[in-house]
Formats: sequence, C-alpha cells, structure tokens
Amino acid sequence: MIHAAYLHIPFCHHICHYCDFNKVFFENQPVEQYLAAVNKEMQKTMENFPTDYFKTIFVGGGTPTALTEEQLEVFLQGVKKYLPFDEETEYTFEANPNELTVEKLQLMKKYGVNRLSIGVQTFNEELLKKIGRVHTNSQVEQVIAQAKEHGFHNISIDLMYNLPGQTMEDFKQSIEKAVSLNVPHISSYSLIVEPKTVFYNLHRKGKLHLLPQEKEAEMYEYLMDTLASEGYEQYEISNFAKKGFESKHNLTYWENNEYFGIGAGAHGYMNEVRRANAGPLKKYIHAVEEKGHAYIEEHKVTEAEKMEEEMFLGLRKGEGVNKAIFETKFSRSMESIFHEQIEDLKKRGLLEEDEQRVFLTRQGKLLGNEVFSQFIGVI
Ligand code: SF4
Repeated sequence: MIHAAYLHIPFCHHICHYCDFNKVFFENQPVEQYLAAVNKEMQKTMENFPTDYFKTIFVGGGTPTALTEEQLEVFLQGVKKYLPFDEETEYTFEANPNELTVEKLQLMKKYGVNRLSIGVQTFNEELLKKIGRVHTNSQVEQVIAQAKEHGFHNISIDLMYNLPGQTMEDFKQSIEKAVSLNVPHISSYSLIVEPKTVFYNLHRKGKLHLLPQEKEAEMYEYLMDTLASEGYEQYEISNFAKKGFESKHNLTYWENNEYFGIGAGAHGYMNEVRRANAGPLKKYIHAVEEKGHAYIEEHKVTEAEKMEEEMFLGLRKGEGVNKAIFETKFSRSMESIFHEQIEDLKKRGLLEEDEQRVFLTRQGKLLGNEVFSQFIGVI
C-alpha cells in the first residue's frame, strides 16, 4: 500500500528568474476547473489504488498559497474528503511569505495541515529582487511569527546560494537570520541555471555573472558547518533538521518508496510503475475529465533500475544506504552488485562504509552528482 501523496498546485503570481518548475502565471487561469480536476483525480486514484492511511501529504507548486481563500478551502475540503489521514500525518504546504495570510493559516490549521515549507531564498532584499522574488524580510518574520501563533511548529525555510552577485557575507547573514528565526528545518540549494528561465536567457546573452565554482563549494561547506554547530542534522545532502523534524515526505523519495503524484505535471510511483501527468493545464483537466487520470508516461521500473535507484537516491541521505534493507528488498547483497563502484569511490575518498551502511564522506557530499552517476547503468 502507498502512504504518501504529492499534490501539485501550479499557479504563481510572479515568476522567479531561476524557476523551471511546472507553473503558470495565475491571471486568467481556469483555477476552479483545475481544482475540480484535482478532486476527481484524487477520487479516481483512491478507487484504483486504495490505501487506508496517508503518512505524508505534500502540497507543492507553483505556489499553493497563490490560491484565494475560497479556492484554498475548496482544495482543502477535497483532500479531506478523498485522502484518509489524521493528525499524525505529516501534512505540508509550500508557501510564499507574501501570500500566507492569517486567514489562510487558519484554514490550513482547520483542515489538518501541520507543516509549512516557506520559500525565503535569501535575506538580502536586493538579491531577492534580482532573482525575481517579491517578498520582504519583514514579511518572512511576520509570517513565521503568525504561523507559530497559530500552532504551526514544524516549519521549514528554503535558502539559495551561489546566486549571481551573492557574497559569502550575504550568505552568512542569511543563514544567521534563518537560525535566529528558530525554525526546525532548513533546505538549501545551489542555483542551477535551467533552460527556459529568465536567468538562462540572461546567461546566454552574457548578462548573468555566475560565481566561480570554488565559491559555491565554500558556501556549501560553510552551510554544513554552521548548521551542524547550531544543532541541525544534515539528514540529506541539502536538508538540515532539528531532531524529529526531518521531512518524512521527502524521505519517501530518498528511501525509494512509492507515492502518488496528483495534479498537472505531477509524477507518481505506484505498483512499480513511475508515471508522469500531462503538464499543460488544459490537457491535464481534459484528460482527468475524460479518463480520471492524466498519465502521459508510464514506465515499469525494472529490478535493475530499482537497485540503482536505491543507491543513488539513498546516498543523498546522511545515513546513506543500509545494507540489510538493500538485501531484504532485493534478495541480493549490495556488495554482490556494486562492489567495484563502492571500492572505487572509497579509494577516491567519496564514500565510506561500515558494517551497516555505505554513505557519503564530506568530499562525497561536495561531489554528490559525480558519486550518484557511478550507480547509473551499472547492471
Ligand atoms: S520559484 Fe516558486 S514562486 Fe517562484 S516561479 Fe517558481 S514555483 Fe513560482
């Protein structure tokens, strides 16, 4: 049975310069029709893949908080109606600081949301403008204070580094500020210039000045050291949490477990098949209205792919990949399949091994993609 669901709300009021997520500008979109399609997809999914209980529900985007209060309530009612969950379920909403009103917080609370993931990115307001964000630092502070007042204690904030023009001092101040807000979870990602973004076009025209690679590594090392000294455990390559506040939903992905993906462009993994939904809103709505789902891709994951995924997803975690769990899942030892890769990466100082597990060294974290790629196409 599957116990995790990702729900996608693809609307944004502003488009950030670095963003390549599946999202659309909010104005003139068929939001109500979209929400009706999401309800139908939830209903049909539960009919086709029944489950008794959700351990995690994650609502991402786009920005779920782009919805009006009325739209938000329609959505929250749908989740409550179709997905079985209770107060023990980790129920997360992604939020933008300038859109998370007290009324929306109250609605979320009423319908069982208990975790917020807030897109902050940086506490340097000039840099915020440069990357196309429209919130301010005081909005972040206010929203976090209000969320806590309304009983949200499981709060995560996102920070970016390696931003054009960002100095080490800027990044240090952002981390300091994040820590001072006393949130139990921080995610921090390096900027990647993706095709079809404003930054990509600027870069092509030579108008975006990216930082040298050493700076990125320096920032990442600073991030790891500082958050460790502040009591945050680096439980995943880019995620840091106080004890007990790790994102259970994201651990579903890294532990290579199955989940539902509902909404335009969402990806799911059910009964050994990875599926992708149609991305464009109209296509998604039309498909769901007709068939109850909007899969445009279905890939049955082979045993070999599962084993490779177990390695390159699992190695993202601080604790790495557990040898006994690997053997239980595949009836073969990790050693019998990946001996060569593991030994080579150990020699290069990127992997470490003990009796129970294989995990990244500090250097391995800095060169994560290099490590992960060694486990692809091996079998
Ligand atoms: S980063 Fe988030 S808020 Fe910005 S455009 Fe992308 S999805 Fe929307």
